[in-house]
Amino acid sequence: MTTKKRDVTKRRSPSACRHTQQYETDWLGRTYLGCPICNRWTRMKAKPAPADGKRLAA
Ligand SMILES: [Zn+2]
Repeated sequence: MTTKKRDVTKRRSPSACRHTQQYETDWLGRTYLGCPICNRWTRMKAKPAPADGKRLAA
Protein backbone atom coordinates (compact mmCIF):
# COMPACT_ATOMS: atom_id res chain seq x y z
CA MET A 1 0.00 0.00 0.00
CA THR A 2 1.13 3.42 -0.78
CA THR A 3 0.64 6.27 1.52
CA LYS A 4 0.37 9.68 0.05
CA LYS A 5 1.86 12.18 2.30
CA ARG A 6 0.85 15.70 1.86
CA ASP A 7 3.21 18.46 2.54
CA VAL A 8 1.78 20.30 5.40
CA THR A 9 2.60 23.92 5.19
CA LYS A 10 2.01 26.19 8.01
CA ARG A 11 -0.98 28.34 7.64
CA ARG A 12 -0.16 31.95 7.35
CA SER A 13 -2.60 34.28 8.86
CA PRO A 14 -3.81 36.60 6.16
CA SER A 15 -3.40 39.62 8.33
CA ALA A 16 -0.16 38.75 9.99
CA CYS A 17 3.44 38.57 8.95
CA ARG A 18 6.84 38.81 10.47
CA HIS A 19 6.99 42.51 10.18
CA THR A 20 5.69 44.89 12.72
CA GLN A 21 2.03 45.51 12.36
CA GLN A 22 0.91 49.06 12.60
CA TYR A 23 -2.24 51.07 12.46
CA GLU A 24 -3.08 53.46 9.72
CA THR A 25 -6.02 55.76 9.43
CA ASP A 26 -7.18 56.99 6.10
CA TRP A 27 -8.77 60.31 5.33
CA LEU A 28 -12.21 58.87 5.99
CA GLY A 29 -11.26 58.00 9.51
CA ARG A 30 -11.17 54.31 8.89
CA THR A 31 -8.56 52.40 10.77
CA TYR A 32 -6.49 49.70 9.20
CA LEU A 33 -4.13 47.26 10.77
CA GLY A 34 -1.44 45.81 8.64
CA CYS A 35 2.06 45.81 7.35
CA PRO A 36 3.48 48.70 5.35
CA ILE A 37 6.20 46.47 4.01
CA CYS A 38 3.91 43.82 2.60
CA ASN A 39 1.35 46.48 1.90
CA ARG A 40 -1.39 44.32 3.33
CA TRP A 41 -4.03 46.06 5.32
CA THR A 42 -6.99 44.80 7.22
CA ARG A 43 -9.77 47.15 8.04
CA MET A 44 -10.68 47.24 11.66
CA LYS A 45 -14.35 46.92 12.40
CA ALA A 46 -14.98 48.34 15.78
CA LYS A 47 -14.05 51.79 16.83
CA PRO A 48 -11.71 51.85 19.78
CA ALA A 49 -13.22 54.62 21.82
CA PRO A 50 -16.92 55.39 21.48
CA ALA A 51 -16.93 57.61 24.51
CA ASP A 52 -16.47 60.92 22.83
CA GLY A 53 -19.92 62.18 22.08
CA LYS A 54 -22.24 60.61 19.59
CA ARG A 55 -21.17 60.54 16.02
CA LEU A 56 -23.39 59.26 13.31
CA ALA A 57 -21.58 56.84 11.12
CA ALA A 58 -22.14 57.44 7.46
ZN1 LIG B 1 4.96 42.30 6.37
